[in-house]
Amino acid sequence: MADQYDFDLFTIGAGSGGVRASRVSAAHGARVAVAEEYRVGGTCVIRGCVPKKMLVYGAHFAEDLEDAQQFGWTIEGKSFDWVKLRDHVQTDIDRLEGLYGETLGNHGVEVFRERAEITGPHEITLASGKVVTAKYILVATGAQPQRLEFPGSEHAITSNEAFHLDALPKRVMIAGGGYIANEFAGIFNEFGSKVCIVNRSDQLLRGYDESLRDRLLQISMMKGINFHFNTTFKSITKNDDGSLHVELDGDDDQDVDVVMFATGRSPNTGGLGLENVGVELGDKGEIKVDEFSQTNVDYIYAVGDVTDRVQLTPVAIREGQAFADSVFSDVEPYGVDHSCIASAVFSHPPIAAVGMTEGEARNKIGNIKVYTSDFRAMKNVVAGRNERSLYKMITNAATDQVVGIHMIGPESAEIMQAAAVAVKAGLTKADFDATTAIHPTLAEELVLFK
Ligand code: FAD
Repeated sequence: MADQYDFDLFTIGAGSGGVRASRVSAAHGARVAVAEEYRVGGTCVIRGCVPKKMLVYGAHFAEDLEDAQQFGWTIEGKSFDWVKLRDHVQTDIDRLEGLYGETLGNHGVEVFRERAEITGPHEITLASGKVVTAKYILVATGAQPQRLEFPGSEHAITSNEAFHLDALPKRVMIAGGGYIANEFAGIFNEFGSKVCIVNRSDQLLRGYDESLRDRLLQISMMKGINFHFNTTFKSITKNDDGSLHVELDGDDDQDVDVVMFATGRSPNTGGLGLENVGVELGDKGEIKVDEFSQTNVDYIYAVGDVTDRVQLTPVAIREGQAFADSVFSDVEPYGVDHSCIASAVFSHPPIAAVGMTEGEARNKIGNIKVYTSDFRAMKNVVAGRNERSLYKMITNAATDQVVGIHMIGPESAEIMQAAAVAVKAGLTKADFDATTAIHPTLAEELVLFK
């Protein structure tokens, strides 16, 4: 019966979700193929989380090298070479891409390095013209950066191109207020570019707790990043020297070297042939799925960013795993719990959060308690760096259960991963208080809230 099709599973897109789903399905005994139109590994590995984090590390040396002097070090002749870092990052990305390909190969997954489209029931056509059939189709095509449209907007880049710039721009304008905008603003600023953010509203990082957003804004401004709020783009024209003249609505015109759009990511559902088989899409073009990632067409599933549930790598991976286990193993079909997902913004300094913000908790629970710790990390004190951390814990006043933790400060993402276990497990503030501090650390603030 299974041989009626060329494959048991055909996955479109070898990113975080697609690779996990393909590999695990194959391990469960399925005959699997995956198509990838760009590079195996997908956004996270090739032009997202991984290279971005490498740039964040590289950028942070700017502060570390400065602070080192207060710790007795003399550093002479320091300089930064963008091309060297860029190429080093790309070499490591090549290595990782190779490893992802190897993993698929080792599991017997057939990889087609070309675009795929659904052309009929159970039928996929590859860019080369090859037609294959599969019992199940998994769409794991991710998302792509949204581009603003206005005269001259074609001169702007997105995060896709930011990793490949020929030279470090002297002046960078970033459109958007989300995590990618703030992360790249921090990166370029630390490298020495003059950075400004243009945002159509007056809010950064929607979804994060307000006091942390305010703190990041304050610190970012102190570090030299400029913000143009309630401002939109009118046009971009190229100057004779190759730089860009940006006409804004809401603020003065600016001349910059690079304009980068970081204005959200849209699900990759165009040209996939979904209409050929009647797969239902939502308002943003996302594939609508049920809790098991199944679409309205029973043999087609979708995981990851293309479903626009929570656009994060660990979520796409979990969805891919749950799909593979549910469809190709003996376990009872299960879905992914999308509640209480911890996340981070790798800004300078980073933000990390899990659970409800203070505003959400007030709306949903009403009777809450908020504990805050506003402190200067010891390292910053010694370095003479006037940068304060802010930790916030929110509890349900009736039950003492911790319903949210929010942090901005050095290493907050690293610290949050452990704290998120406690919040996800439903522990109380008394449980945190009963835990002895590790001293001296930043993280000890979490068990010392008064
Ligand atoms: P993707 O990883 O995007 O994979 C989809 C793949 O499908 C792509 O390789 C694409 O080329 C391919 N494809 C598309 N259409 C076709 C087709 N028709 N045929 C064949 N192949 C096709 N997440 C985090 O958790 N932490 C972070 O720090 C983080 N940082 C980020 C930074 C940036 C700059 C960006 C852009 C994203 C970041 N993300 C981060 C988000 C993360 O990268 C995504 O959530 C994750 O990659 C989604 O995985 P996916 O499998 O859904 O899609």
